[in-house]
Amino acid sequence: MSQGCRDCGTCTKPGLARLAQNWAVGALHLCTAGISWLIKRGTRRHCPQCRHQLAGHQRRRDGAFID
Ligand SMILES: [Zn+2]
Ligand SMILES: [Zn+2]
Repeated sequence: MSQGCRDCGTCTKPGLARLAQNWAVGALHLCTAGISWLIKRGTRRHCPQCRHQLAGHQRRRDGAFID
């Protein structure tokens, strides 16, 4: 696994918290038969580097750092 983005809220979480979140998200997608996954794909913008939600990033949608 790569380190991910330094400004990504998910990438900078402790490993255990990330693992728990990944599991929770996976279980959610499974429970909704992929509907939540489709909604997430359709409505959220994702980081091209780590594929997490851009909402958790301290950067603009074009990928430029705010600072
Ligand atoms: Zn990330
Ligand atoms: Zn990222």
